[in-house]
Amino acid sequence: MTGPESAGATPRWPVPEPMRAALQAAQDAALAGEVPVGAAVVRQGAIIALAANATRSPPDPTGHAEIRALRMAAEALGEERLTGCDLYVTLEPCAMCAGAIAHARIARLYYAASDPKGGAVEHGARVFEQAQCLHRPEVYAGMGEAEAAELLREFFRERRQAPRP
Ligand SMILES: [Zn+2]
Repeated sequence: MTGPESAGATPRWPVPEPMRAALQAAQDAALAGEVPVGAAVVRQGAIIALAANATRSPPDPTGHAEIRALRMAAEALGEERLTGCDLYVTLEPCAMCAGAIAHARIARLYYAASDPKGGAVEHGARVFEQAQCLHRPEVYAGMGEAEAAELLREFFRERRQAPRP
């Protein structure tokens, strides 16, 4: 259990283990120069896949944390549909990932920080609200939001300061 460390004015829910793991994966990604986003797939209370954003090496425009975690989970289960699985991700999924989440039949989606620029769940395309969306997960936002947003802020702050080659 976590201690009473979040003694701020706004009480926060304790961040559940899968989101903590996703945040850690995001932090590791930042050290590798990748945009810090992490994702975990959970089945029956156990993390069966954990991945971070990895689009730079090898170069892969689809290497978002969610896509990588879904692939990993499908491989682990030997099934293309992850029925009964939950996905935890540190940032609101983009349109590509939201589509993949629907295809994977994810039961519950938990994401930490909102992404007004690139998100497609509560922003932009709002993929799960479209009539063409074949499967809608239950969506829960905000757990671990402060931590996830801080990782991203720090990453982009450092990149702005870094000298361009
Ligand atoms: Zn994405």
